[in-house]
Amino acid sequence: MSQSLIIFEPSGKVIYQFNNKISPFNDFIYSLVNQTCTELDSAFSTAAVAQKRFYCLQNDTLYAALYFDVVSTLDSEKVRLCLDGVLKTYSKLCEDDHAKMAKLIEFQFQTLVQLRLTLTDAEGSGERPVSKASTPVPNLGTSTPVKGKKSTPSKKMRKWVNGELVDAVDDGALDYSNAADLLSAAEGTGAAKVQLNQAAFEKQDNLVLLRELNDVLGDAEDDEDDEGDKDGSASGVTSGFFSKISSYFGASVDINEVSKKFIEQLISKNIAPATAAAIIEKIKARLSSKTVTVPVFKQALTDELTKILTPNVSTDLLHDIKKRPLGRPYVISVVGVNGVGKSTNLAKLAYWFLQNNMSVLICACDTFRSGAVEQLKVHVNSLKNLNSGSARIDLFEKGYGGGDHVVNTAKLAIAYGAAENYDIVLIDTAGRTHSNAKLMAPLKKFGDAANPDKIIMVGEALVGTDSVEQATNFDNAFGNRRGLDFFIISKVDTVGDLVGAMINMVMATKVPILFVGTGQTYTDINKLSVKRVVDMLTS
Ligand code: GDP
Repeated sequence: MSQSLIIFEPSGKVIYQFNNKISPFNDFIYSLVNQTCTELDSAFSTAAVAQKRFYCLQNDTLYAALYFDVVSTLDSEKVRLCLDGVLKTYSKLCEDDHAKMAKLIEFQFQTLVQLRLTLTDAEGSGERPVSKASTPVPNLGTSTPVKGKKSTPSKKMRKWVNGELVDAVDDGALDYSNAADLLSAAEGTGAAKVQLNQAAFEKQDNLVLLRELNDVLGDAEDDEDDEGDKDGSASGVTSGFFSKISSYFGASVDINEVSKKFIEQLISKNIAPATAAAIIEKIKARLSSKTVTVPVFKQALTDELTKILTPNVSTDLLHDIKKRPLGRPYVISVVGVNGVGKSTNLAKLAYWFLQNNMSVLICACDTFRSGAVEQLKVHVNSLKNLNSGSARIDLFEKGYGGGDHVVNTAKLAIAYGAAENYDIVLIDTAGRTHSNAKLMAPLKKFGDAANPDKIIMVGEALVGTDSVEQATNFDNAFGNRRGLDFFIISKVDTVGDLVGAMINMVMATKVPILFVGTGQTYTDINKLSVKRVVDMLTS
């Protein structure tokens, strides 16, 4: 994990820094000046930029800002207090005793970092059983199916600049970016049988079903109790949205004032400002009164968010697969930006289908990124090792190539899948930057030729405002005839309650969320719990 702190002047000149690699701050400062940050109060802002959570506090003459590389549930009020202390220390000591100032600032910052680490450890310690498999990976407590795969304590997050992915390195448990690991694992020599937590799934009428996100995150009401404890902590600082507006409780107040507070609340949960404003406008129009109580407004918001997230089509994939026409496998294709977890979640789907005794052919249609085919081979080898039933899992690949190679590979895979009686063909596609028209254009041709039964976009919970454009561009990429069918929202385990990307994506496209990814093992996939997500967004 990395975390950095800088103090800078309004001109942008950095005058003090701790542990700083300046470029992520550049992205944040860009977002600060373009006013895409969320104002938590008039001097305190936050933003999720470049997959990091930034906070900035300003006094009359200076700014202090910090970021964490993984979004955590750390109370923003504690961050504000830390930055306030840092600014005061700097102002008091910078001229007289530079060494003492540096020592004190470092201490203040590290105290906050420690607090955050403690909270992160607590989350990964079993209180929130996000990961279940046997071989622990320090950062997430998840396991890798590849023996000998080096596990690293830190997880580098993808880096976005102006909608462009500029750094797709991520060294989590199912990341096969190391060429040596890749080769040995792809040849089958590195694939080990791991213990996955079968309790992750639930059995019903001969079907193996995915559990709800709610089961994975634990009891929301317990968490709310914990929140209450935290609020009453020794610092004496009250935190939480509702304590901030508690003065409004009971009484009817100006609807515009309440609306403004709720917009801030939604933005602080990673909902894009325009999306948050649109949701609140709808509620205002529905309530159509000049004054309102907070509970009434909150209930209307809860209803609206529930409506947005509730799918209006069937998400019963197993049923659809069973009902497919004879002689043709059910074809599912996954699309998305680089590094969001397409292959990992495709492998999770495959594992789930195997549990349901359905044979799966995985087709390697990322014929562009070197190592992509081998990465899928690794997954297929691991899944073969894990598979104890009679259903088959195999890889269909025709190596690398451009032009029509992707379309031809997909068509051949579907024909092969039909001839060999596979139930499902799962097609992986190349990750692409959603804002690059040249890279997006081939998706239409692919969709027309492969005509998948379902096209699923994998999108990260980690992405901020950019999620709106990502979802919209992928949904529009397949032409007028069809769009995306579902989202899988990955990495929900890394964002705490900042789950706003889900709303951004669904609001922008009306495409429902099929599943959420909650870790790096094959059983870390869950059904969405609309209620739980709405609770997280409104509390
Ligand atoms: P792709 O480039 O879109 O195919 O992405 P990958 O499938 O290679 O995944 C990139 C990284 O994200 C890998 O390290 C995965 O283990 C990790 N990953 C995927 N899904 C999740 C998830 O739900 N939670 C977490 N924490 N990591 C995930």
